[in-house]
Amino acid sequence: HAKADGRKRERFFTSEMEAQMQLRHALEADLRAAVEKGEFELHYQPLYDLSKQQICGFEALIRWNHPIRGRVSPMDFIPLAEEVGLIVDIGRWVLRQACSDAAQWPEDIKVAVNVSAIQFSGSDLMQDVSEALAAAALLPSRLELEITESVLMENLSEVLPILHALKERGIRISMDDFGTGYSSLSYLSSFPFDKIKIDKSFVNDIVDNKEAHAIMRAIILLGDALGMRVTVEGVETAAQLGLLECEECDEIQGYHISPPRPVRDVPHLLSMPPKSDGNFS
Ligand code: C2E
Ligand code: MG
Ligand code: MG
Ligand code: MG
Repeated sequence: HAKADGRKRERFFTSEMEAQMQLRHALEADLRAAVEKGEFELHYQPLYDLSKQQICGFEALIRWNHPIRGRVSPMDFIPLAEEVGLIVDIGRWVLRQACSDAAQWPEDIKVAVNVSAIQFSGSDLMQDVSEALAAAALLPSRLELEITESVLMENLSEVLPILHALKERGIRISMDDFGTGYSSLSYLSSFPFDKIKIDKSFVNDIVDNKEAHAIMRAIILLGDALGMRVTVEGVETAAQLGLLECEECDEIQGYHISPPRPVRDVPHLLSMPPKSDGNFS
């Protein structure tokens, strides 16, 4: 009996795994064609300067409009694109599109682009960035590259010289999702980041929970002490904004300012009145 059950279960898992593999293969094939078919789109989410009380930049976030599946989240296709190496082509497209979009914006507005580990090892990132800037006639100082800790961890000795070269070119480097890796602090001193972006998981309870507030305050002070700008991601309420203003956080990003929007909405976002609430105490 048990043996028969076992065999049945085995078959069940096998066909389930097969179905998953088929889905992956189908998705991979679609992903391969998506760049040429123009199915990707960049949405932009404001970076809001708390002391100036105005938008100081936008983060480019990729969207895939699949003809049948509809909108596929980057969380669902970026990891696959990384695994099969397609992220190099996709990343190149993102850089070009983001730079050419930003060239249409006021000169004090920056654009932030997410970069994967694979782009450091599987391609000439420096050349891709240079070509994107040149094609758009965008100043290097208007481009920020966001990398996560895992990018650094992947291959420190290969990544660090490229980061230094990019910095020398005048491009800014931000550490994304700060606090989610397991040895954030040691990586902070390995490279002079221009900015750290504190992960949204740290912002959730800052208003109601003293400990969460204390941790946020400490990370902001740390970034400040190391001479880095500090951005807090995932700010969803006026109370969170008020608290971060008091803690002298430099920038915030989140639904409270605006969710990511299509590029055509950028002029409207730039004309919004200040979001700061001076009433927090
Ligand atoms: P990320 O770089 O940390 O981007 C921030 C994510 O948080 C975005 O998710 C954004 O929509 C979301 N978010 C912003 N404000 C709020 C908020 O107030 N509350 C909550 N709950 N979420 C908020 P999205 O657009 O789904 O992107 C997810 C991740 O996919 C990004 O995380 C980034 O790691 C990756 N990604 C997106 N675009 C690209 C790209 O062009 N290249 C690469 N390599 N990765 C990308
Ligand atoms: Mg990012
Ligand atoms: Mg992030
Ligand atoms: Mg500061």
